[in-house]
Amino acid sequence: MTNNQAIADYVHDVFGAEDEALRLARDAPGHNGMPAISVRPEEGRVLQFLARAIGAQKIVEIGTLAGYSGIWLARALPDGEGKLYTIEADPKHAAVARESFARAGVSDRVEIREGEAAATLAALRAEGPFDFCFIDADKDRYPAYLDWALENLRPGGIVAAHNALRGGRIVAPENDTDHIVRRFNARMADDPRLVSILIPLGDGIVAGLVQG
Ligand code: SAH
Ligand code: MG
Repeated sequence: MTNNQAIADYVHDVFGAEDEALRLARDAPGHNGMPAISVRPEEGRVLQFLARAIGAQKIVEIGTLAGYSGIWLARALPDGEGKLYTIEADPKHAAVARESFARAGVSDRVEIREGEAAATLAALRAEGPFDFCFIDADKDRYPAYLDWALENLRPGGIVAAHNALRGGRIVAPENDTDHIVRRFNARMADDPRLVSILIPLGDGIVAGLVQG
């Protein structure tokens, strides 16, 4: 049922409302020669829902791009409190994201950490533990990012990862990365430290709740 385009359109129409700042952030990659691979509005809403549901105050995002998903996450934080640390290797992406966060009025609660995720995550440990970790950068390193999340999230925290469906190829893998994400999803499902779900919306969000 969730593959049905009419149903996907319905969810988008009813649960994908955006304000001007979000719309501009979603358009920004196209205007700046960046890949148009931001989460969809209804996926952003899911991320916001999950973060808000656990009262997240410290969020880590791996893969900023133009700041689109970051705005959804930053707006999940309680007013005047909390922080989103978002990691981006490409300085141009980081610059575009900085503008998106300013337009959305969330610059005060967002810190863009520029650099390779491996090094940036190692440094970020000092700010932990964290409530929420959203993984959306290089898929080949999803397993390493999950290791980091399990070490740096509090009990009751959530680790979520985008592109769990690989554009549908998850059921018929065509390349190494598809296989890596298949194993990643299976690990999310099986790890005894997590209670996990895969939300088959957009390109799929797999999310795990860290057990105490
Ligand atoms: N979460 C964003 C989309 C992220 S696209 C949104 O939905 O709006 C993935 C981003 O991760 C790109 O901007 C890319 O430059 C960045 N990235 C990829 N590999 C990375 C790495 N190893 N370290 C840091 N950033 C990386
Ligand atoms: Mg993605």
